[in-house]
Parts: sequence; C-alpha cells; structure tokens
Amino acid sequence: MTRPVSIDAALQDVLDLDRDRLALLAATDQPKVGYVSIQTPEEILLAAGAIPFRLTGEFSADPDGAITYLGGNYCSYVLSCLGEGLAGVYGFADAVVFVDACDMRKRLWETWARAVPGCESWFVELPSDASPLSKSFFAGQLRKLIRRLEQRYGRVVGEEALREAIARCNRTRELMQQLQDGNRRGRPLLTGQQSIAVVKAATTGLKDEFNGRMAALLDATASHEPLAGRQRHRVMICGSYFDQPAIVEVIEATGADVVCSDISNGVKYFEGRIDPDNEPVAAIADYYLEKHTSARRIDTDVRLRHMFDLLRDYRVDSVIYFALKFCDTNLHDYPYIKEKLRERKVPVLFIEGEHNGTNIASIKTRIETFLEPRFF
Ligand code: SF4
Repeated sequence: MTRPVSIDAALQDVLDLDRDRLALLAATDQPKVGYVSIQTPEEILLAAGAIPFRLTGEFSADPDGAITYLGGNYCSYVLSCLGEGLAGVYGFADAVVFVDACDMRKRLWETWARAVPGCESWFVELPSDASPLSKSFFAGQLRKLIRRLEQRYGRVVGEEALREAIARCNRTRELMQQLQDGNRRGRPLLTGQQSIAVVKAATTGLKDEFNGRMAALLDATASHEPLAGRQRHRVMICGSYFDQPAIVEVIEATGADVVCSDISNGVKYFEGRIDPDNEPVAAIADYYLEKHTSARRIDTDVRLRHMFDLLRDYRVDSVIYFALKFCDTNLHDYPYIKEKLRERKVPVLFIEGEHNGTNIASIKTRIETFLEPRFF
C-alpha cells in the first residue's frame, strides 16, 4: 500500500474503516462475531479465526421493534443494538458474545437468543472486581468460550494462535496510545469526534488493516509540532456509551478541546497491554479485569482513582459526564463522582441523552453556559 503523506489523508484512511464497517465486514470470508462490551476478549475470537467487531447501535432504523421485546425503560444503546439485530443489519455474523457488563446487556443476550434467528448469542460471566479468585474464575469463563469456538469452527485454539492474537491487539493498543500521547503534551491534533471515530475503526476487528493505517497516520503526524496558539480549556468526557458528534462539536465550538474521552469509545478501549510472557488465557483474564474501570465495577473508588489519574495526565480543566437515559450504573455513580470531583475543585457538567437523537438545542445552551465563563 502506498502511504498517504498528509495527516488528513492518513486519518481518512483510518476513519474509512469505521464508515464502511458493514460493507468491509460482509466482504470478508472469515467468520464474524460481534460484541457489545469492550470487556470482550477480542484476542480469543481472533485466535479462533473469527473477526471480532463491536455493535454500535447506529444502524437501527426501528428502535420501537426492540421496545416491543424489552420495554421502553432500557438504555438506547441496548435498544439500538437489538434493533440492528432484529433488522438483520448483522446478517453476516455467526454469533454475538455478551459479557455480563451490565444488567441491560444481560437482558439483551437473553432477548437476542430468542428474537434474532441465524445469529447465535454466547454469554460470558464477568466478575466486577480484579481479585485473584475473580481472575481465576474469568480465565475459566474464557476457556469455556475457547471450547465453544473450537466446536463451532472445528479447529484447535492453541497457545501459539493466542500469543499471535495478543501481539496483534497489543500492537493496536500501542499505536493508539502513541496517537493519544500528543493530547497529554499539548493541543490535540484530532478533534474529539475524530479520536472517537479512530477507536470505532479499531473495533471493526480488521486488526491488520487498522494497524497498517494507524502506523501510516502516526508517520504522517511524526514531524508535526503541537498546535500553536493559546492553550485552550481542556475537557474530559466520561460516562455511558458515547458516540455523539453533535455534543463534541458544541464543546469544541466554545473554544475548548476534548483532550480525553474516558469511555469505551475512548481511552478505556486501548489502555494497558496484555503481558505477552504470561500463560495466554491467564494473561488475557488479568488484563481485562485489571483495566475494568467502568461504572459496573463494584468499587467506585477504582473508577474514581482511574479518573483522577487521567485528570492529572491530561491536565483536564472540566469534566462532562454523559449518561444515557436508563443507564442505571452510570446514573448511580454520578452523585458520588460529582462530590469527589468537586472536593478537588474540578467542575463537572451532567448531561443525560439518547444514543441516537439527543436534543442538542437544550444541551448546547447548557454546555455553553458551563464552559464559556471558565475561559476568562
Ligand atoms: S449505556 Fe449503561 S445501561 Fe446501556 S449498555 Fe452501557 S452500561 Fe449498560
């Protein structure tokens, strides 16, 4: 492949993987297995010869169909994913893996099993802490998943294949961490939404394509100095599933930079690395439990300490906490997190919205009122 030379062209190459995700996935011969949580061990699916891709919920044309099955008091990410399943958007997929990341995704698994024919649903228990016992239990769950994949695809998922898959996924993490490093040092080269779209591109599961295009993007940015100009107000986004270009645009139109997204479409996806020298299944289990800092973690202080580290590393000025309606886990955490942020004098704005179709007009005013006075 000829490497693009400009940052824009290289970036577009990466973002095309997200934009064209359905067509690209449908065009590959390998089996495809979806997932709805970044706690899903992609390495194991890759080692079994499958392509692990994330369901984004953005192609659901009829969420009402999903409401018929689940009811209206579900978060709109879950409803949209079920809507996609019902509409056959992922007709190319063999199965979807559901890890027990929250109650709503557990209900999604149960419903998917009954309502989406031709696409199996597999469930993996996910402990909500990272004790030695939990790691050992989770490793057992992963071995069960491996056996299921071996039966399904008639191949042995051996140590060598697992090590190779770990190396490919670690390479993805390393490349994304390199891109993100610039945000710690100065003004981001990418907009907040571009950064989110880069993560989404990584979750298409086309790892080698992604790694190649990301390496080209890093090459293109290598000689680029941090953006000049007055330092801008630095914002971190956190909370529920977040893919809201309109909100990011409003934040950045005020003159602020989104320097860090502590979400599954942000740093949570690519933090850390799997120890390549450990026994592969144990190493995968350790990694996913240790990096688990979402609202579903039983000890909120683990999540909070992780947030404080990000606030320090990215020199964050303000936090925007976004919760999808009915996202109990994030809504439940918010009062405690708000109190702790305020003790540290970190301003925080709470926004509640929908996955597709948040009312941006009212949110725009609130964001402007929150951010603009802080610039002076
Ligand atoms: S947005 Fe909240 S309720 Fe919905 S899937 Fe994520 S954690 Fe679960």
